[in-house]
Amino acid sequence: MPGARKASAVQSAGACACGAVQLEIDVPARWAWHDHAEASRRAQGCAYATYVGSYRSRFRWLAGEEHLTRYTDAGAGTTRSFCARCGTPMLYERARAPTMVNIPRAVFAGRTGREPRYHMNLAEQADWTYLGEPLAPLKGYPGVMWERPRRAKRQASDPMFEL
Ligand SMILES: [Zn+2]
Repeated sequence: MPGARKASAVQSAGACACGAVQLEIDVPARWAWHDHAEASRRAQGCAYATYVGSYRSRFRWLAGEEHLTRYTDAGAGTTRSFCARCGTPMLYERARAPTMVNIPRAVFAGRTGREPRYHMNLAEQADWTYLGEPLAPLKGYPGVMWERPRRAKRQASDPMFEL
C-alpha cells in the first residue's frame, strides 16, 4: 500500500512460496506458538503448525491481497487465508481472539522477536509427530536419516508402570 504508515520502527516481512502475497508485522510479535490441533495439522499439511501471533493493528498486507482465498469454519469460529496461486497458508484468525492474527512462522524470512515456546491443543497431537528421537544414517541412501525401531514396549506387568 503506497503511502501506508508504519506503526513501528521495526518490521518483519513474510511471503508465500510463489511470492505473490507479502505481509509484514511490527516486531516484536505478541507471541509465537505451536498448534497441535487436528484442524491446523490438516489445513497446513504438517505435523503441527507454528504460528506467530500479532495484534491485528500491527499486521499489514504488503502485496497480493487479491490472490488470497479464505476458508471459514463457522462451527470452529476460524478463518484461514491462503495464497490461491501456490497454496501457502498465510493467516489464521480465531473469532475468540478478534484483536489477534496468527501467521505461519515459516513464511517469515527473518526473525519475529518471539521464540515459539508455547504449545496449544497437545491432546490432539499426532502420534507420528517427530519429537527429536535419535536418528542414524540409512545405509545406501545418502542424506536419509531414520529412527531405529524402538525396543518392544514394556509389559503391562512391569512394576514401574503399574498404576
Ligand atoms: Zn503464493
